[in-house]
Amino acid sequence: MKITVWNENQHEKETPLICELYPGGLHEYIAGFLKDADVEVRTATLDDDECGLTEEVLADTDVLIWWGHMAHDRVPDEIVDRVQKAILSGMGLIVLHSGHHSKIFRRMLGTTCNLKWRDHARERIWTIKPNHPITQGVPETFVLDPEEMYGEPFDIAEPEEVLFLGWFNGGEVFRSGCTWKRGNGKIFYFQPGHETNTSFQNPIVQKIIKNAVRWACPIQKNIELTCPEFQPLENES
Ligand code: ZN
Repeated sequence: MKITVWNENQHEKETPLICELYPGGLHEYIAGFLKDADVEVRTATLDDDECGLTEEVLADTDVLIWWGHMAHDRVPDEIVDRVQKAILSGMGLIVLHSGHHSKIFRRMLGTTCNLKWRDHARERIWTIKPNHPITQGVPETFVLDPEEMYGEPFDIAEPEEVLFLGWFNGGEVFRSGCTWKRGNGKIFYFQPGHETNTSFQNPIVQKIIKNAVRWACPIQKNIELTCPEFQPLENES
């Protein structure tokens, strides 16, 4: 299985705390806990040539993980087109936290993906679909403190499955883990992961992301997307 972890890697340049929490930046930290015997992980960032997402990289990626926040609009539309095509052709996509406003997530869902937000909250997450590949080994409920509050209404296309519900100590609620299918590709959105909090160090959060990568991994990728005129196979009159 081949994973590409994409991070815009911009906050890391301005806020040294992030690299204290996550050495090498969010992408290197996430890549680090995903590495396993049968998982090959590469990283890519906004500053790389073509955002690190060349045709070759995408053709060689089973699942793309996306973290972005302050520089969504600096991802060129041609890269978004390319990633969208890869997803429709079978590549899995996992969007983390503030990636809700990324061009690629909005493109795939077709909605604003707006939500309410406030940093420095305490979150209790509930696992509401225990019989799902992404929730295996995940407790029924767990707490992230602190985590950024993301609140409903979350303007997303109706999810195929809601796996996790978040409740915050301000009283807000949120669909914290949702899945969709688009074309031949699977998509998972997971809400925790504010850059100055420690959620990615949490073993339960890591478990969920590891499960999600396996769930989103395609049986077949790079499926050709065509729309041919088709001649009949039978000629019964
Ligand atoms: Zn955030």
